[in-house]
Amino acid sequence: MVRVRFAPSPTGPLHLGGIRTALFNYLFAKKNGGKFILRIEDTDRKRFNKKSESYILETLKWCKIEPDEGVGYGGPYFPYYQSKRGSIYRFYLSKLLKKGLAYYAFDTDHDLNSIRKKYLNKGSTFSYNASVRKNLKNSLTMTKKELKTQFRSGNSYVIRFKIKPGDKVEMYDLIRGIIVINTDNLDDKILFKSDGTATYHLANTIDDHLMKITHVIRGEEWLPSMSLHLLMYKAFNWNPPNFAHLPLILKNDGKGKISKRFINNLDYPIFPLKWKDSENKDILGFRELGYFPDAFVNMLALLGWNPGTKKEIFSLQELSKLFSLEKVNKSSVFFNIKKANWFNKQYLKNKKEEIFSHLSLELKKRSIFSTKNYIYKVIDCIINRIHFIHEIWKHSFYFFIGPISYDYSFFNQICYKKTIDRLDNWKKLLLSIHPYTSINLKSFFDKENNKRKMMQIFRLSLVGSIKGYDLIIILKMIGKEECIHRIDRLIKKIRKKLE
Ligand code: GLU
Repeated sequence: MVRVRFAPSPTGPLHLGGIRTALFNYLFAKKNGGKFILRIEDTDRKRFNKKSESYILETLKWCKIEPDEGVGYGGPYFPYYQSKRGSIYRFYLSKLLKKGLAYYAFDTDHDLNSIRKKYLNKGSTFSYNASVRKNLKNSLTMTKKELKTQFRSGNSYVIRFKIKPGDKVEMYDLIRGIIVINTDNLDDKILFKSDGTATYHLANTIDDHLMKITHVIRGEEWLPSMSLHLLMYKAFNWNPPNFAHLPLILKNDGKGKISKRFINNLDYPIFPLKWKDSENKDILGFRELGYFPDAFVNMLALLGWNPGTKKEIFSLQELSKLFSLEKVNKSSVFFNIKKANWFNKQYLKNKKEEIFSHLSLELKKRSIFSTKNYIYKVIDCIINRIHFIHEIWKHSFYFFIGPISYDYSFFNQICYKKTIDRLDNWKKLLLSIHPYTSINLKSFFDKENNKRKMMQIFRLSLVGSIKGYDLIIILKMIGKEECIHRIDRLIKKIRKKLE
């Protein structure tokens, strides 16, 4: 049975790349009738952030891609927190030590830094590997007695993975195909830290094996670790899972990948939900900014995957049936906020009831009464002009109330006695229109010599600006009486200015 996991480190909020990894894992599990597991990789206690776990859980809930198993959901392979699995890691690590595939290293930070400096001065970089380990302070170069003395004196140590030089690791990535790596290019990675805890590499490999993970689907940033992980599976004598590394998500301007570090320089969201930064300031997420979870998920699914057709709108259920790793891009993808807004707009069209509730609330707040029928009519007029529910009032208030303010520069342009006379005249003509139909309203404007200007002034009186919805429809919707009333208000305003 297919078993996949989302294994975030709780070091902060999820960003687009993280939540997309979760989504692709979820979709792969659903497509294959498998299980989606949530494991919290909290081995890095220094970067641990206690708010991130609830953030992760809330995000998955908001996106409706909830795990079948794992933190918050239980399951047979508990605990799903790496911080609670220390004894398991130590047990398996001792096996590697016994087999001579891992070793103790006592080099201090000071030792290593000065070696690094020497290499740097020679113009090369230091790598702790087979070519140098014989000359360093580790259990491979010490006698048993020396080793005992080290332990007894309580000197701190790390445990490193012993990589055999001159070998080729042939790897197969489900997205990228075959990749061959020479072990000479790898270093003896630390598996166990001096604070007595496992590193990501050790914990991740052991957990994927013990939790019977069949497919590791994760971001491309982990591709360089794949060879090490495969060598570890080999060292433990375990069958490795399948691997698939998802393409990076780049900023739309092509200047690098989307990451938490750039958040302050971006003018669009990269977090699914709100997050408080280190100065306790809110960074709004897609949810708070008015994106619908289904639109967000749809947008995310197409960031690196495509169905092979031109179709772009997919429900989560449809995606769960269609998703395949073969259709995931190899190359990086660009995140485009305009496209994200476009997706929201497509979903907005089917959310008239939600828009209605929102608009009704706005009206209630202002003690404006309107009928259900009228509100729905307004929504039909405006729905194509907005991307988010919260934009509705700004774009439709003039169907309910007169302008709150007038476009300053246009108002100044028309602020003359002559305009008052014209408005008075139009008022009379408007009153005489019978029946008050769109056709008659159209010919009312058509008769005017400077039709463009007339329409602009009309619009200013009705809406407060020279932009807005179809004027004749506004005139029809709000009715003759209200039009006259708004024209009077503009006349008054001009008069006052001329006094
Ligand atoms: N804990 C790692 C992360 O936060 C998971 C990497 C993996 O999926 O193997 O990205």
